[in-house]
Amino acid sequence: MLKYVQDTKNDYVEFLKKLVSIRSYSGEEKELSECLVEAFKEIGVDEAFTDGVGNAVAIIRGTGEGPNIVLSGHMDIVPEGNVELWAPFKPYEPEIVDGKMYGRGTSDMKEGLAAVYCAMKAIMENVVKKGQRLSGDIVFCGVVQEEPAVMLGMKYFLEHTMAEHDIKCDVVYIAEPSNNNLTTGQRGKMELVVKTYGKCAHSSAPEEGINALEHMIPVLKAIFEKDGITLLEDAAGKTCLTVTNIEVKPGGTLSCIPDECEISIDRRFTPEQSDEDIIGEFEAIFAKLSAENPEFKATVEPRYFDMVSWTGYEEKARKWHPSWQMDRDNEYVVRAFKALNGIGQNPKEQYSKGGTDGSMTCAIHKIPTIIYSGGEGSVCHKEKEWVDIEEAVKGYEGYVAIIADLYGLDIALFD
Ligand SMILES: [Zn+2]
Repeated sequence: MLKYVQDTKNDYVEFLKKLVSIRSYSGEEKELSECLVEAFKEIGVDEAFTDGVGNAVAIIRGTGEGPNIVLSGHMDIVPEGNVELWAPFKPYEPEIVDGKMYGRGTSDMKEGLAAVYCAMKAIMENVVKKGQRLSGDIVFCGVVQEEPAVMLGMKYFLEHTMAEHDIKCDVVYIAEPSNNNLTTGQRGKMELVVKTYGKCAHSSAPEEGINALEHMIPVLKAIFEKDGITLLEDAAGKTCLTVTNIEVKPGGTLSCIPDECEISIDRRFTPEQSDEDIIGEFEAIFAKLSAENPEFKATVEPRYFDMVSWTGYEEKARKWHPSWQMDRDNEYVVRAFKALNGIGQNPKEQYSKGGTDGSMTCAIHKIPTIIYSGGEGSVCHKEKEWVDIEEAVKGYEGYVAIIADLYGLDIALFD
């Protein structure tokens, strides 16, 4: 292990403990955001601030030649669930037992935020404060509200903060848990709302109405029988779809034939499939059904949520993660492997089934994106979440190596 990283391992652990002890639910990241901004100011970066949506941003400015990189991670955590299931641990009082730190957000993803912070501190102390400037900017972005799957913080950063603060970006690294492997793509996810329509009537005379629930039956049948649905394979196997909710209006115990029925569909798809393809499948199913029954009427649209951040910023956000996959020959992917191999790490290339902000950075904004950190993927969102300290510190070391390689720094500066 690089000597500088070995010598600062305790600082890393203490910083991680501090982050875990701040309970940062989605929409309640104020304290954590301000803590990160303060920490970056202490190490003397050029700029550190919270942006309009509440993201924590810090910048080490280079000479402008590039590459300009963004190191990112979400600040929010999911709730701890039943605290009794955490015993003998407490979700916000991190403790280390047998080399593992227990606490909510240890792996997802405060270890990643701490790794990126410590790597930037390593650059400040060993490079910038010694009078050497980097050829490009290093920008930290701790984002708000990633967990609700609407990418609110990252979207705001890319669409507002970058222009307002003259930030350029050639590549994004996301420090989500990857067990120190390189995650270079992810499956697409979309939540769809399908509604069927009818006509209200008294339920003592159903023949006078049109029951919207009855019209949903052939739609459900098509979904469960995958009739008219194309499920392609990706690096994580066959994609899927399912129904996660059903509601009728007017509902409850009223003696009323419902004139509206709504279902929620969770659809996973591959990079070859566009939004239009996914939505078009349902439109084709509806066209077939209305040809058979002129009374059949249905609509399909993506699910939107009204989001409010801790700063009061409001946006109608879409529950949507388009899929993405980096080319193995991409310069930044090749260099990340090389840099990590250079310090004795042997990462695998992997692909994520779940959603990350990579959908916003890579799929929508077309910026090369790589996910890397020492977090443990299998414990996320569960009780007694933990991170292995050695693995987490390796992730910190990995970021030092990746940055050193990108800017042509001698790795011996950290040894
Ligand atoms: Zn996460």
